[in-house]
Amino acid sequence: MQNQDPLSCLKGVGGKTATLFSKLGVETLGQLIRYYPRDYDHFEAPEAVQDLIPGKIMAVRACVIGAPSLVRAKGMAIAHCNVGDVTGTMRMTWFRMPYIRNVLKPGRFYIFRGMVKGAGGKPVMEHPRLFSEEEYLALSGTWQPKYPLTTGVTNHMVQKCVRQALQSLSIQDPLSPGLLSQYRLIGLEQALYLIHFPSGAQDVQAARRRLAFDEFLTFLVQIKRQKILNEAVIVERPLSAVQETEQLIASLPYELTGAQRRVWKEIEKDLQRHVAMNRLVQGDVGSGKTILAFLALLMCSANDRQSCLMAPTEVLARQHFDALQRMAKDFCLPVHPVLLIGSMTARQKKEVQNLIASGAADVVIGTHALIQEKVSYRDLALVVTDEQHRFGVRQRETLADKGNGVHVLVMSATPIPRTLAIVLYGDLQVSVLDEMPKSRLPIKNCVVDTSFRKKAYAFIQAQVDAGRQAYVICPMVEEGEMEGVENVLDYTEKLKAAMPDKIRIAALHGKMKAAQKQQIMEDFSAHRLDVLVSTTVIEVGIDVPNATVMLVENAERFGLAQLHQLRGRVGRGRQQSFCIFMTGDDSGANNRRLDILNRSNDGFFIANEDLKLRGPGDLFGIRQSGALDFAIGDIYQDSDVLLLAGELADRVLSGEVVLPEEEMGLFQKGIDYRTI
Ligand code: ADP
Ligand code: MG
Repeated sequence: MQNQDPLSCLKGVGGKTATLFSKLGVETLGQLIRYYPRDYDHFEAPEAVQDLIPGKIMAVRACVIGAPSLVRAKGMAIAHCNVGDVTGTMRMTWFRMPYIRNVLKPGRFYIFRGMVKGAGGKPVMEHPRLFSEEEYLALSGTWQPKYPLTTGVTNHMVQKCVRQALQSLSIQDPLSPGLLSQYRLIGLEQALYLIHFPSGAQDVQAARRRLAFDEFLTFLVQIKRQKILNEAVIVERPLSAVQETEQLIASLPYELTGAQRRVWKEIEKDLQRHVAMNRLVQGDVGSGKTILAFLALLMCSANDRQSCLMAPTEVLARQHFDALQRMAKDFCLPVHPVLLIGSMTARQKKEVQNLIASGAADVVIGTHALIQEKVSYRDLALVVTDEQHRFGVRQRETLADKGNGVHVLVMSATPIPRTLAIVLYGDLQVSVLDEMPKSRLPIKNCVVDTSFRKKAYAFIQAQVDAGRQAYVICPMVEEGEMEGVENVLDYTEKLKAAMPDKIRIAALHGKMKAAQKQQIMEDFSAHRLDVLVSTTVIEVGIDVPNATVMLVENAERFGLAQLHQLRGRVGRGRQQSFCIFMTGDDSGANNRRLDILNRSNDGFFIANEDLKLRGPGDLFGIRQSGALDFAIGDIYQDSDVLLLAGELADRVLSGEVVLPEEEMGLFQKGIDYRTI
């Protein structure tokens, strides 16, 4: 069998199953063997009741004490059962599994496995998996892969199919035995086998190392080639430096920081050259990247050329558009911006496209999909992308296709240490904005448990009374299967009930219609709302300097980098700002993690500390949301592998090492460099 063969080649897989798998993005055998587990079940030796640790997934061997009871709440059957051993007793709870009552026999021992929680000093488990002693013994010591699933596809099905596929494919290793030993890597076939069916942590680590290496290598060879191509892109009509940018800088209500001034000079110089600019501006949230983009757009306009600014979300695109339009009006700038986003009607879009094609509009601001696909420019000189980490490498490439000799400027808040940035952004020049505007006061942070909620509400109320605004972040949109996790819809009602009527509260989340989202953001921006309860849709780029409080519910559910991005929504004005991280889980490990945020407001420091805490043992920890995302490689955790792959990529480019390019998917359009 071949990589490209459809799943239906496998025994026991019919058309129906194949359709279900295609929902997971798996259509061919090649895709199936690269459908990696998201975690593993370990089946470690069961513990005694007194040794259970809240916050961990553990197994306990215990005896059923008395008959299980059944209650109904919110239309749901909830079964409770007391169990124990010589060291203590505890309670087990199951939701929507009334039949469990008939399964559990009082006086018998079972193995229960699940998340341990604490309630009044006693351990409890919600919805544990139940095993007979014999069943558990058979599993113990093995690692069972856990796959991302969809309705109709069970974990067992995926396991069976993967096993069959691995047996029937002949897997060619693109790396020679010599290279494998030089870079201390295991063979590809072995790596694929071990990532699905490891017998322990070491297997997973070795497999991950190899698979991450391949992923990084493919990526790096590609961007290094891109760099060579970039350097050959000749700009026929370079831009000239203009007065207007100096005038704008002089009219701003604030002074540029030294770093902003330095980076602007770098950009201005690039734009005057005969070689196309490819520059990344990296700066922590709030360091003031937007104004640099505006200056570059203005420089194009003053040269009678066109430019565009792409944002990852509609909300952000509109915010940039409004800000530029306001500036153009206030300071009489020679820019004619237009907005292009998906929620506009077909007619509006057509109109805007005509304005761009004729040259009547010179700055186009929009979401990246729209700008890339549908627009033909009269005279494009510059493309700016904001919050670059949201875009993958592929997008970087298509940009270059857009026009000949077009300058490219990307802006990112992803805190990537310099050594890694040089490799990852090998196709770009990197400028670092390493200075915050002086008028800012550092954000005050605290990490608290839910007993603090009343005080937090009183605090928000006081800030609102003083004329400020607040964000509250919940992990979910609506009530779901996860217990004890706050959701935006219910929370908004709860908060409205808890606060005086005069406080204007609204909900914002990703499932809303674009126009509705827009309206709410506008209302919040214009201070027609006081408190915004939201999911992480506000994570990127939103700028409302009057907002001074951020309360994050279930902070334990977010990665540190993401929490840092979220926190970046406050502390943007002159007022003191506050960030309250509220956790629903008071385990020590979590508090230590969140304490990093408490101690520092510096994104680079946080990324580094997070990395240290996670350590190499944490195979599938919380992903650094917001960082360049690969299918298996993690630029922080696997930074050593990344650097090694960079070295081999150089040898490939110099011609010293030759790889079977097609097999590695090198330079094929449509390759998936997972963007978020
Ligand atoms: P980010 O780097 O996160 O994109 P923004 O460009 O959105 O940050 O800037 C954050 C806020 O700081 C904005 O309200 C902006 O007007 C303001 N700002 C930018 N530069 C300065 C400065 N040098 N001094 C004071 N405020 C500034
Ligand atoms: Mg920004």
